[in-house]
Amino acid sequence: MRPSNPRVAPLVAYDPKSLPADTFISANESPYDMDPELKQKVLERLAALPFNRYPDPLAGKLRALIAQGYGLPGPDCVLLGNGGDELLMDLFLAYGGPERTLLNTPPTFSVNAYNALLTGTRVVDVPRKADFSLDEDAIMARAARGDIDLLVITSPNNPTGNVANVGFLRRLLESTDALVLVDEAYMEFADAGCSMTPYLGEYPNLLILRTFSKAYGLAGVRLGYVLGDPRVIRELGKVRQPYSVDSISQVLGEVVFADRTRYDARIRETRGERARLSAKLAALPRVRVFASQANFLLVRVPDAHAIWQDMYEQDSVLVRDFSATPGLEDCLRITVGSPQENDRFLQALCKQLDRRR
Ligand SMILES: *Cc1c(COP(=O)(O)O)cnc(C)c1O
Repeated sequence: MRPSNPRVAPLVAYDPKSLPADTFISANESPYDMDPELKQKVLERLAALPFNRYPDPLAGKLRALIAQGYGLPGPDCVLLGNGGDELLMDLFLAYGGPERTLLNTPPTFSVNAYNALLTGTRVVDVPRKADFSLDEDAIMARAARGDIDLLVITSPNNPTGNVANVGFLRRLLESTDALVLVDEAYMEFADAGCSMTPYLGEYPNLLILRTFSKAYGLAGVRLGYVLGDPRVIRELGKVRQPYSVDSISQVLGEVVFADRTRYDARIRETRGERARLSAKLAALPRVRVFASQANFLLVRVPDAHAIWQDMYEQDSVLVRDFSATPGLEDCLRITVGSPQENDRFLQALCKQLDRRR
């Protein structure tokens, strides 16, 4: 049997490290399913949907709705994808590839480094500082050399939770002709003024990623979008799978986006729980909790891997273990869940810390 493509053969498939657990706070999902009233609206629309027909290839209705929602000139500033993850791959197909270079800022979302390997894109790492903030001077200096084609800045960053400085991103966009993707998968949970969406008209090389998976609780549906200059969107359209966003997802997206203010209360609850959890964690001995603007918290605790395992085995509490990731030694990421889930986690963690006193 012939081996696979030499770029593919050495890779290890993405592993979400998902295990069944009573308290599943490991994947940054919303703790709540769709509001029953809204779900009913979706089900009624699905009942009228002809499943034998191909979907609208570019999800025109949803595209127009999103463009209008952000005050963009037209639907050609928006592109929908099968989750944000599909659009991240499209980005590498269209702007990466052999002879092309990505500037990455680890520790950050691992999917981009993976897509770079898969597409043969060269990666230049400009590591974050010890507190996980971006090394702004180093990024500016490296981009100024002129060989960077693509930068991905995740803000709020996954898994560290901190946001990029808007003033810095604007200076960067002004200083380079490289495409800058700002991945705002968690921006709904951040303070006002952290998003780059107000500057979309100002910088043709700015592209913003958003998703329905996190604040809008549709991780199971697979729906994300990018916002940007129509010339960039056109290039992404060339590499995209023609029917990747099925008609069912389009209906869900339309219903949720049209009613998105309904989600404000949940987002407020998550922000409140984040503050409560963060304060409790900060008060624990030997635990360091990093400031977060997302729906998760990164903590550093001695013996993190063993604590992760014991919390899972003894109390069926699953958080995400990052202790094997360079720069994230002894770090665990905890998704902010419902108040009950957060309490169960705190209890399980305290038990493990007590055992190790
Ligand atoms: C979750 C996530 C996404 C997108 O997820 P999808 O479910 O594919 O929409 C993108 N970027 C980051 C950093 C994420 O954490």
